Amino acid sequence: MAGITLDDVTKRFGEGGDAVTAVDDVSLDIQDGEFVVFVGPSGSGKSTLMRIVAGLETQSEGDVYIGDALVNQLGPRARDIAMVFQNYALYPNMTVEENMSFGLKMSTDLSKSEINEQVTEAAEMMGIGNLLDNTPGELSGGQQQRVALGRAIVRDPNVFLMDEPLSNLDAKLRTTMRTEINRLQNDLGVTTLYVTHDQTEAMTMGDRLVVLNYGELQQVGTPLECFYRPSNRFVAGFIGSPS
Ligand code: ADP
Ligand code: MG
Repeated sequence: MAGITLDDVTKRFGEGGDAVTAVDDVSLDIQDGEFVVFVGPSGSGKSTLMRIVAGLETQSEGDVYIGDALVNQLGPRARDIAMVFQNYALYPNMTVEENMSFGLKMSTDLSKSEINEQVTEAAEMMGIGNLLDNTPGELSGGQQQRVALGRAIVRDPNVFLMDEPLSNLDAKLRTTMRTEINRLQNDLGVTTLYVTHDQTEAMTMGDRLVVLNYGELQQVGTPLECFYRPSNRFVAGFIGSPS
């Protein structure tokens, strides 16, 4: 388990006049076991921030810590982060079981039977225990999303990063999966950073909400604080109470 600290994190893409500041001087403390939802319009830097925390992108300035360690100095194994993306990114030619065990085979020294045991447990947790021999193409969107989540939890990570994981699902399924992700996070107590542009997800899922615009923090607070006491016009317009 681990908290996450962002210290004056800035990320620029490109040089000189063409440079884009995707993340602009963001500082944030996330507690161990906290569920934090990141919202903001398209292009506000949400995905870039997730990729920086995951160590997939290097910030231009500032420091990112997982627990006491700088992300940039941790190898992938030590980072111990599981990501879930919008487009699932399942391997199409592998079975569900292979999709779920692949990461464990690559990043741990677990035996075959230990891996089997963990995959079965995670699959049952996600309600896909009967789909282990299927390939992703044979599954519905909701089932694929469960596999993606199952693949993330099977690694028993310190941190979940979820980048719009439900945006390809229909409204009904989104509601179900919302509840399920919250239940999962409650059960596992894993620190979770969750990106969405869905107002309902923003208002209902997290302990705290982080509102971004043009890469800058606009407000950090509970969903109710942001809703009833928006810190500026942008927040008010984006998620605030209509009063
Ligand atoms: P969001 O996830 O909130 O939609 P992103 O983090 O994807 O926002 O993007 C933030 C800004 O950074 C956007 O202006 C985007 O065009 C730019 N950006 C993101 N990734 C790259 C990249 N690899 N190269 C250049 N610009 C990028
Ligand atoms: Mg994005």
